[in-house]
Amino acid sequence: MSRIVILGGAESGVGAAVLAKVKGFDVFLSDKGKIAQEYADTLRKWDIPYEEGGHSEELVLNADEVVKSPGIPSTAPLIRKLMGQGTHIISEIEFAGRYDTAKKICITGSNGKTTTTSLIYYLLKNAGLNVGLGGNIGKSYAYQVATEHFDYYVLEISSFQLDNVYDFRPDIAVITNITPDHLDRYDHKMENYVKAKFRITRNLRPEDCFIFDSDDEITIGHLDKIVLKAKQLPFSQRSEVSQGAFVRDDKIVLRYEKDESEIFLNELSLGGRHNIYNSMAAALAAKATGIDNKTIRDSLSSFKAVEHRLEPVLSVRDVLYINDSKATNVDAAWYALECQKRPVVWIVGGTDKGNQYSVLDSLVRSKVKAIVCLGVDNVKIHDAFESIVGKEKMTDVLSAEDAVKAAAAFASPGDVVLLSPCCASFDLFKNYEDRGARFKEAVRKL
Ligand code: ADP
Repeated sequence: MSRIVILGGAESGVGAAVLAKVKGFDVFLSDKGKIAQEYADTLRKWDIPYEEGGHSEELVLNADEVVKSPGIPSTAPLIRKLMGQGTHIISEIEFAGRYDTAKKICITGSNGKTTTTSLIYYLLKNAGLNVGLGGNIGKSYAYQVATEHFDYYVLEISSFQLDNVYDFRPDIAVITNITPDHLDRYDHKMENYVKAKFRITRNLRPEDCFIFDSDDEITIGHLDKIVLKAKQLPFSQRSEVSQGAFVRDDKIVLRYEKDESEIFLNELSLGGRHNIYNSMAAALAAKATGIDNKTIRDSLSSFKAVEHRLEPVLSVRDVLYINDSKATNVDAAWYALECQKRPVVWIVGGTDKGNQYSVLDSLVRSKVKAIVCLGVDNVKIHDAFESIVGKEKMTDVLSAEDAVKAAAAFASPGDVVLLSPCCASFDLFKNYEDRGARFKEAVRKL
């Protein structure tokens, strides 16, 4: 019996362990840290041996194959050792793909993955297809392959999950866009990060589809350098395309094979320029799956915003509070500010990821009336914006509750309070969900 060792005991690792168990492998899971109760319970329930709080090398190095969780960098000493002795290391996605015959629509990119993935899932559901949603969202792909039967999967896949993918092949691959993020994990080389994203296309066949943003110079630049057999379906807000999606006047035009159809922009339920991109990407994936135009149109106009992504929370005294806690980089916040039509009190800050704020200057100048800095260290934000909004229109806070109070004090009827932090949340919160939830709670208490 061949031995599979899983490194990392969270969603993806535990899912892979369950699948390995179901497939009859000798399986062992090892986690350097503590395994959350819920996952320990699952491992026990499936009778899977595991350890936590450190790796026993003698129990790991004897693996025939290792499934590495995306959170573990390939520079970790144990990974180096495994690589040194020639052990094959794969990702959970690669492992699960071996046992799955469903058609797969896989989405990666720097921003818009969750929104686009959720939109595509919603479209396929509305078309009556038997479809699973997974990857970075909800239950892991491997766990679902072990325990469910779907005809289609819509999978959100991060670049870390693509790092150890070799033979995995989507039927439809989507790259939403590529902007600098997580460069610390890629030797600070953009090229490496771009290549990691493009691994999603490596096994595409001529009958498969590749959906991408042709306004995105980084994507286009890389596409020029590689050989891609798949059907290309670009989407653009700048220029007409012969196959794919583009914007003409006040409509999205979809061209797929011989069919051409249109959707009015004002019918899209999600606001903002970025969501026109996401809607075009989702519509193309639906077209390539054979879904009819009416279902596509109806779905794009009835979809509800995903939590923590430009999510309208409440209007209090005619001030609208918007939770965009998931905006953890400058590009996401750019789009959030860009689509605001009312004066903005902006809540920003957190763990800085090497942000260059200057790209936001003109938007801040034209839209932002006051700034509430929600973070431990806000020096860079003051340096970037004090000269634009004025020192007296900036304040610093250390909790979501104080942020909401301070923002309410700056706001007048007709304004928007926008939490779109540009930064990770780990200085003050567990994660971005926690930050968003506390923000919403504080708004409701106003
Ligand atoms: P991801 O899963 O890639 O992080 P999300 O859909 O969760 O993407 O959105 C993350 C943040 O990026 C949100 O603030 C959202 O408003 C913003 N965003 C969504 N789509 C795009 C896009 N196509 N381009 C830029 N920003 C986007």
